[in-house]
Amino acid sequence: MPDVELIAVGTELLLGQLLDTNTAFVAARLAENGIDVRATHAIGDNRERIAQAIRAALARCDGVVTTGGLGPTVDDLTKEAACDALGVGTELHRPSLAHMEAIFASFGREMRENNRKQAELPRGSRVLDNPRGTAPGFVAFGADGKFVACMPGPPHEMKPMLVEKLVPFLRERYDLHSAIYTRVIHTIALGESEIDHRIDDLFRTCENPKIAVLAHDFRADVKVMAKAESPEQAEEMIAPLQRDIEGRLDGYVFGTDAATPESTVLDLLHARGWTIALAESCTGGRIAAALTGVAGASQSFAGGVIAYDNAVKESLLAVDPAIVERHGAVSEAAALAMARGVRERLGTTVGFATTGIAGPGGGTPDKPVGLVWFALDRDGAEPRAWEYRFRGNRSEVQARAVTFALGVLWNQLRRPE
Ligand code: ATP
Ligand code: MG
Repeated sequence: MPDVELIAVGTELLLGQLLDTNTAFVAARLAENGIDVRATHAIGDNRERIAQAIRAALARCDGVVTTGGLGPTVDDLTKEAACDALGVGTELHRPSLAHMEAIFASFGREMRENNRKQAELPRGSRVLDNPRGTAPGFVAFGADGKFVACMPGPPHEMKPMLVEKLVPFLRERYDLHSAIYTRVIHTIALGESEIDHRIDDLFRTCENPKIAVLAHDFRADVKVMAKAESPEQAEEMIAPLQRDIEGRLDGYVFGTDAATPESTVLDLLHARGWTIALAESCTGGRIAAALTGVAGASQSFAGGVIAYDNAVKESLLAVDPAIVERHGAVSEAAALAMARGVRERLGTTVGFATTGIAGPGGGTPDKPVGLVWFALDRDGAEPRAWEYRFRGNRSEVQARAVTFALGVLWNQLRRPE
């Protein structure tokens, strides 16, 4: 199994001005494909230090993968450093030059000498085309057969280059047949420790596929990872274990892989031909933002009212002022009235409301910070409300309330009538 070290190039990374997301992405894709990542580094835009880091890494493992510093400007020095470390010169790569000329021509801009420099690649390199940008990536080789693969910094250029060009190249070069295939089982409203308890024996006994639990705010994923030679083989290995896990977590699994709570809620609404309207107080439109983040949301999501002030609850949602006066704006009665009001005003099948105290101020002994009421009002059904006391600061309370809301909606909408 080949092993590599990763180097993220860029002074911004060392100043804390740029978060290095490239390294995590590259590491995950390489690991999935059977390439061991031994160490990761961040180095500033300094030719000597980059060269030194490459040399040191090559002394320890089979190759180095870098991102960043391939652009046309004076602080883009990765290619030069790779040449220094490997002791090779550069040569013009004509197809890359032609690709760059075509891009500049299509923008009607003149190509500068420093752009031309980007088509000069280490002698004997394997080129990694860059259809999303100008600078190509490349894999350069040392006399000992070790490699330095360099890719551009912008993630939208680097990711497809890695997945479509570099990974296939390395798989072939090192004759790698197996890959890690992952199935993610998404749960909601079940604590990490409860999940752990329910699948503990699988945890301890499963080697391939292997399982892991990943907790998010108010929900958790179970990952099933199989090392297999093909997607079909992986599916055969994963399917029985997945069924077992889903059985043990029955009632809490809302979907797999790309499914999100919001996409699942919209799918359920769509399948029933229902529409929804939201009345949000303490969540400030975040549930609506989650739903509208899903393509095709307009099929089922009509709209919402951010009813923050009581006057808005009363004027736009027809909440009776007597309810607010008697029970307060954060109450079961107010939540129910908001849900009904928004459903009636927007003419939807379902109305859903949140009202709570996000904090840090505004709490009382009766109604502490973190208390949130949720209500669901559906045409022709008994309205329902739920109360939950969230812990955390203001943004945590809001984020958790959104997940809880989507969990409640999922739970209610999936039930047969
Ligand atoms: P360009 O031609 O755009 O200059 P480049 O290969 O020279 O590409 P850099 O100059 O190092 O790349 O970085 C360009 C941009 O790419 C950065 O400003 C940043 O937005 C993004 N980027 C670079 N490295 C990383 C990284 N490790 N993680 C996330 N984003 C990164
Ligand atoms: Mg640059």
